Amino acid sequence: LLFKLAINHARNQPFDKPAIIDVKSGTQNSYQNLISDIIEFKTRLLLKESEKKDLNKARIAFLFPNGYEYVVSQWSIWSAGGIAVPLCITHPPPELLYVLKDSQASKIIVHPEYYDKIKDVAKDAKIDNVLVYEYQKKQKKNGKSDFKIPSLFPMDINRRALIIYTSGTTGKPKGVVLTHANIQAQINSLVEAWKYNKTDKILHVLPLHHMHGILNALNCTLFAGGTVEMMKKFDAELVWNRFMRPERDLTLFMAVPTIYSKLIQHYKNNILPEKQSLATESCSQFRLMVSGSAPLPNSIRNQWKEISGQVLLERYGMTEIGMGLSHEYEIEKRYEGCIGVPLPGVQVRLMSEDGKDITNTYEQPEELQIKGPNVFKEYWNKPEETKKEFTKDGWFKTGDIAMKTEKEKVFKILGRSSVDIIKSGAYKLSALEVENSLQAHPNILEIVIVGVEDQVWGQKVAALIKLKDPKLNLDLQQLREYAKTNLASYKIPSLLKIVDEIPRNAMGKVNKKELIKYFD
Ligand code: ATP
Ligand code: MG
Repeated sequence: LLFKLAINHARNQPFDKPAIIDVKSGTQNSYQNLISDIIEFKTRLLLKESEKKDLNKARIAFLFPNGYEYVVSQWSIWSAGGIAVPLCITHPPPELLYVLKDSQASKIIVHPEYYDKIKDVAKDAKIDNVLVYEYQKKQKKNGKSDFKIPSLFPMDINRRALIIYTSGTTGKPKGVVLTHANIQAQINSLVEAWKYNKTDKILHVLPLHHMHGILNALNCTLFAGGTVEMMKKFDAELVWNRFMRPERDLTLFMAVPTIYSKLIQHYKNNILPEKQSLATESCSQFRLMVSGSAPLPNSIRNQWKEISGQVLLERYGMTEIGMGLSHEYEIEKRYEGCIGVPLPGVQVRLMSEDGKDITNTYEQPEELQIKGPNVFKEYWNKPEETKKEFTKDGWFKTGDIAMKTEKEKVFKILGRSSVDIIKSGAYKLSALEVENSLQAHPNILEIVIVGVEDQVWGQKVAALIKLKDPKLNLDLQQLREYAKTNLASYKIPSLLKIVDEIPRNAMGKVNKKELIKYFD
């Protein structure tokens, strides 16, 4: 991957073009800096030939806030022949320990800011090799004249490159092993579909321990020769301020639905009315805004369109497959409530429990299965689970239920078979559909629908709600009245709990198995 990154640049553009910019300080690092820092830092990782071959020694965990050092570390590990294990800066010590123990990393690279956080965890995980890395700005070399592409040997692309942990929405996070070939296929597919190019500049606000931030926002942009402007941590005010700066030089923005929801709230509550038209106008600098990682409620899509003029492109992905399906690039094909079509190179099918391929039957929900060079190699250290998640003929079973719509002839995600498909009486319903419909209620900020065990019905439809303002009110009767206008009676919640906060992980996802406990 590094080899290709360097070659791409030599061919396409000057090496002193900025690769990474820190939004807050404005510090820029060019591709030239990036490539030489990677080569330099790689030698400090000291992987000997014998260690590269020994998988047990090759795994290197790294913990950095979004920024230049993260990028140098990731590519250095790769160019040293190691397997990179990104850690999450917001994870509490027990979760970090889980990842370190499960991945059995032999080394940790850490930003000085996080050294204290990791040192005891490292001890508990019995890792004594902790390397602190902070970028030191060097004396500026004059121009690009003395820079030569380092002689890099392309490595075996079937080598393991990354272990990324799943979000842990349905159980303990699993370490997903991706090879260089997997990542390359995932990048190629997205770059083609979303037209990344060297004029792109992305405002990067996503965590860097998850596919969305690593693949879509960071690596695809770098691969295409664009510039990544990094925000240490998402902050609605800072994002709006950056949008509204006079440069108007951003082209891409990618986020999860909860981020769009926070940007909408900030616009409505904190941007002065006389500044709102400026905020709206500033969104026209983007050629593409993407939503994914969790279902996008129509009301958020519509409010965002009103505020920004942008029709969000929604895509569906998983740690195990990178991105699988996506709205088409053409705005008029970004159908509400659907996730579009398979991405280039990705094969998709819908399979019934009794093994019938119903991909070409409309409006029939079944399990989504995926095949292609993008699909992961294995769950780390879990050969049995890996085997269980594939069909005999080699398709990956996503566990998500989807269907093809008759009208638009695109795919729609109905949710996870384990938690989002609720069986109530004789009916099966999609929690996502109910959430989507009720989200539009003027008093509701966030809503999560779960199925609660019930002696008579099997499961009851239950709603967990965060109101827009704690002073507002909403009782079950009012919710049911509202729901009636859009939903069939078996989809209407019969249980309601109002909460101050809906617990979410770093990616804005909810763990429905945990949330069911609110209805005990
Ligand atoms: P775990 O596998 O540990 O339970 P997880 O599945 O949430 O956690 P990820 O790999 O981060 O971990 O998330 C993939 C899942 O996210 C998909 O299987 C799907 O359920 C959901 N998802 C992603 N994009 C979308 C989308 N656009 N609409 C609906 N669901 C989505
Ligand atoms: Mg999963």
